[in-house]
Amino acid sequence: MANGSGTPQGNGHAAGPAPLDASRTTVTLAASLKPVPPAEELVFGKIATDHMAIAHYDPVNGWSAPEIKPYGPLMLDPLSSCLQYSTSLFEGMKAYLGADDKVRLFRPEMNMARMDRSRERIALPPVDFNEVLKIIKRFVKLEERWIPRVQGHSLYIRPTLIGTRASLGVGASDHATLYVICSPTGPYFRVARPLSLKAVGDYVRSWPGGTGGYKLSLNYAPTFHPQTVANKEGYDQILWLLGDKITEAGAMNFFAVLMRDDGDWDVVTPSVDGTILPGVTRHSCLELTGAHGSEISLYGLPSNLKLHPQERDITFTELEEASASGKLLEVFVVGTAVVVASVEKIGADGKKDIVLQRYEGSFGPVARGLYEKITGIQEGREQFRDWSVVCE
Ligand SMILES: *Cc1c(COP(=O)(O)O)cnc(C)c1O
Repeated sequence: MANGSGTPQGNGHAAGPAPLDASRTTVTLAASLKPVPPAEELVFGKIATDHMAIAHYDPVNGWSAPEIKPYGPLMLDPLSSCLQYSTSLFEGMKAYLGADDKVRLFRPEMNMARMDRSRERIALPPVDFNEVLKIIKRFVKLEERWIPRVQGHSLYIRPTLIGTRASLGVGASDHATLYVICSPTGPYFRVARPLSLKAVGDYVRSWPGGTGGYKLSLNYAPTFHPQTVANKEGYDQILWLLGDKITEAGAMNFFAVLMRDDGDWDVVTPSVDGTILPGVTRHSCLELTGAHGSEISLYGLPSNLKLHPQERDITFTELEEASASGKLLEVFVVGTAVVVASVEKIGADGKKDIVLQRYEGSFGPVARGLYEKITGIQEGREQFRDWSVVCE
């Protein structure tokens, strides 16, 4: 239990600031535990579990001993870098409870690697993310009772890193706080139905040389006004364009399935060129698409149907043309929160709607195959490579 003296251990004077060390984690349990709401009442991101994990960095002592302690407010100096200059970043990952009672994470090392890239982009202090993952595993095990025992449900995990230097000087924050919170969650869109997108090019989410490829908090606030307008017009999400080029949809990666002349299907997503968030789900969809018909068989798709994963530019014009010629088979969007969701309509000011074929149920065929395979791996019903990591 408690060894939290705040003094780095085994880290002599000359060694510099202490690195983050999961083995120094102290645990203080909440005096009373909250009731866990029934799975069907869960709304994404509304409630937090009983505890949080937290550690602080200062340039003299380095990382403090991590604490797992009762969930509660942070105390921040109003001068804090994160409040003034948005030195704030996060990750989104999930823990799943399998029928075998094991708690699993899905490719968590990819989230940790991405979090380190985000950290570097805004010059926050160094963090050993292998240690962060150890803390997350222990924390999630502790909160196990919050993971809904219902398919399609999970515990959403939000690791967050903020700059806490108390100074208005415009520059890198040499102080930081790392914390992890968890929220039990059901399907992102409660009623499973295909989405409508509004293509938007006058507001842009990302641009070459910008920060769209990183999970930085500062990328999201500017999307809220256009998103609100699109919702008022009856659309679910925005399809972000950069000129004619499609980048992403909402905070999800974009896929289109196109019929080829030889009868095979191309499964196309924009390449990771700095304007695209390199999603874990996106990457997984590309790999599973490529493995269909050899290593695996995607549910509902003939195993002799060849799918060609492609990372390349795709324009709104190409989408319109493919739709007009009957070659646009389906469009879907992917991300940790939603997993996979199909799109039924794409509108744009002054243009004819792109209407996608209506498939039975709420999914197109490739979207359904990917959804079933990914959730199967996440919930431990299926094995694929080393994608699913058990929390011991
Ligand atoms: C988080 C996020 C995604 C999805 O990434 P996953 O790793 O699959 O959850 C896609 N686009 C944006 C802008 C995001 O923030």
